[in-house]
Amino acid sequence: MTKYKIGIMGGTFDPIHIGHLILAEEAKNYFELDKVIFIPTGRPPHKYWDNMAEPINRYEMTLLATIDNPDFIVSSIEIDREGTTYTIDTIKYLTKQYNNTEFYFITGADSIVEIFNWKNFKELLSLCRFVTAKRTIVSDNKLENTISEIEKKIGVNIDILPIPYIDISSTNIRNKIKKNESIKYYLPDSVREYILKNKLYID
Ligand code: ATP
Ligand code: MG
Repeated sequence: MTKYKIGIMGGTFDPIHIGHLILAEEAKNYFELDKVIFIPTGRPPHKYWDNMAEPINRYEMTLLATIDNPDFIVSSIEIDREGTTYTIDTIKYLTKQYNNTEFYFITGADSIVEIFNWKNFKELLSLCRFVTAKRTIVSDNKLENTISEIEKKIGVNIDILPIPYIDISSTNIRNKIKKNESIKYYLPDSVREYILKNKLYID
């Protein structure tokens, strides 16, 4: 029986931008995934940055950005959970929900170089296949060294997606909004309009 293949895109999505969308679409095509589930993170114990949007706003922006793609799904599993949410718990939950399924955790290089700090990273790496895209904010050397270390210590390989660098981040978009600069084309229009309407990130 052929396995169902699901990609998981976890993120703060504060806000979601075309980097996330291109990454998910490219991973879907490269690994012939059936679906990609976007999972906005819950409320962190302390706000990571002052003007962080509420979980419901980040969830709604993620919905708006993905609504025109039938293969993209948004899950509220992490924003519905009380307290700190960990990827391992989410993946364990999903593996119980979906039988006969292979999970592909889709990330950018900055997530991979932090992986040894993730809760139960060893188990996590055994439950899903990690794929990553290079980012300009992480040197290729550092990414490649981390991937070798993971392979040596845990015996699993992390695939690097053959896609161009996309030098866009939510941080950069939030800064632009603060400075009253245009964010047109950095994210879908629907998300840009949502940000304006809800006056997000202006202070
Ligand atoms: P912030 O600047 O607030 O950290 P971000 O742009 O990094 O935002 P996140 O929500 O933190 O976005 O990212 C979710 C996932 O998507 C992470 O694994 C991250 O590495 C990846 N990602 C985000 N932007 C890009 C990009 N431009 N290229 C490749 N991967 C990306
Ligand atoms: Mg980030």
